[in-house]
Amino acid sequence: AAANIGVVGLAVMGSNLARNLASREGNTVAIFNRTYAKTEELLTEHPEAGFVPARDYAEFAASLQKPRTAIIMVKAGGPTDAVIEDLISVFEPGDIIVDGGNALFTDTIRREKRVRETGINFVGMGVSGGEEGALNGPSLMPGGSDESWTTLGPILRSIAAIAEGEPCVTHVGHDGAGHFVKMVHNGIEYADMQLIAEAYDLIRRGTGKSPAEIADIFAAWNEGELQSYLIEITAEVLRQTDAPTGRPLVDVILDQAGAKGTGGWTVQTAIDLGVPVSGIAEAVFARSLSSHPEQRAVSQNLPGPRGEIAVDDADAFVEQVRLALYASKIVAYSQGFDEIRAGAAQYDWSIDLGKVASIWRGGCIIRAQFLNRITEAYDEQATLPVLLTAPYFVDALERAQSAWREIVRVAATSGIPSPAFSSSLSYYDGLRADRLPAALIQGQRDFFGAHTYKRVDRDGTFHTQWSGDRTEIEAVDTH
Ligand code: NDP
Repeated sequence: AAANIGVVGLAVMGSNLARNLASREGNTVAIFNRTYAKTEELLTEHPEAGFVPARDYAEFAASLQKPRTAIIMVKAGGPTDAVIEDLISVFEPGDIIVDGGNALFTDTIRREKRVRETGINFVGMGVSGGEEGALNGPSLMPGGSDESWTTLGPILRSIAAIAEGEPCVTHVGHDGAGHFVKMVHNGIEYADMQLIAEAYDLIRRGTGKSPAEIADIFAAWNEGELQSYLIEITAEVLRQTDAPTGRPLVDVILDQAGAKGTGGWTVQTAIDLGVPVSGIAEAVFARSLSSHPEQRAVSQNLPGPRGEIAVDDADAFVEQVRLALYASKIVAYSQGFDEIRAGAAQYDWSIDLGKVASIWRGGCIIRAQFLNRITEAYDEQATLPVLLTAPYFVDALERAQSAWREIVRVAATSGIPSPAFSSSLSYYDGLRADRLPAALIQGQRDFFGAHTYKRVDRDGTFHTQWSGDRTEIEAVDTH
């Protein structure tokens, strides 16, 4: 047995992760792929990696030192289950199976239970950063047992991205915790991208600047508090010219956004947990709306303003958009961390929220300066109930207040869709409200369904006899 770590699945992600592992001091990497041609290809292209190839699972197991440790990077879903069963058949108690695919966390919880029965350890691990990250340093979010972390920790630390001297990996929590946190990362990524897209749209319509000019604005923003990978690549995309037509590339790309599902999972899970991730939900739905050309075609002539904004001072307007973007971004992250907090409570995971923010500073798509502020907020108060109430964010929201409201107003009066900007502001005002019209909803619910209500002035549960004499009676709590 020559290898200390193995990789199963050698498509883009697996082959890059295997090369990353092999490039680190002390690692010898066993590789296996269902179709052997891919294994051979990797061997030929990267002789420097010193891979130990296997043609079948038995050979793969024999090439690994004990406890055997293998990272699966295959298609999520059924293929992952199939590979897990194959590995179980050749591994022994104490060995470690890591799933680095994009699994739904509930699948990971189920798989962890199944694998644990055999005495083998199972670790569901979120991997972020795409193929470039897999090769040069991803952000890694492993779940699983403490025992597996003892063996895996040093290996994962050696291949993870480094942010401010720290490897972007932590043992997130047990069983599905790692994939849960990766899921929310992706949800936040959807919100971040939607907010940036809305900012670009408002600036373009408000100032008439060209995409290349707006690229300069984003590049400048990337020097300040909005510094992030997504802002940086936005400048790159906006600056790109389409060679055949000479037009800005962004103008020849069809305006229908795709999605692979993790944003939707984040929202579905949030609904189950009762957590209002409205910014993420609007971002997911904005992509859905964009991808219904037949509905958009029949709606072109609906009445309303057509997206023209009269802006006197372009620079001042751009600064207002920047502040609105920053405030809405704070809301999106606050909502995302709220979902992680609720998930941890529901599934009994002990998750260090500040640490999660810190491992997202490098390698992953939402990497940003801003995450340091989140880590600081949770360092200050680990049980902070609402992230955006941390003093640093309160200051930022104070600074952004009037610009944020003005931008949402301008968007509404000009007929420019700004679902993420406006829903973030509504969420913020909902949290701040001393009293919500939820009282009326409770009244309605009691009227049609005898769902009962509580009172502001007395303990107990009450029902008004709406169909009778409308007197109030003390009721059994039925909701
Ligand atoms: P794919 O998701 O395209 O999966 C291809 C790999 O899965 C191949 O190695 C293929 O083997 C193997 N495979 C498919 N079905 C089976 C099966 N039934 N039994 C055994 N092996 C099977 O590859 P990617 O590299 O794009 O992604 C790998 C994983 O990483 C996925 O779960 C993905 O969601 C996740 N991921 C991807 C990211 C990305 O940016 N692409 C980022 C983070 C995570 P064969 O060659 O024999 O067909």
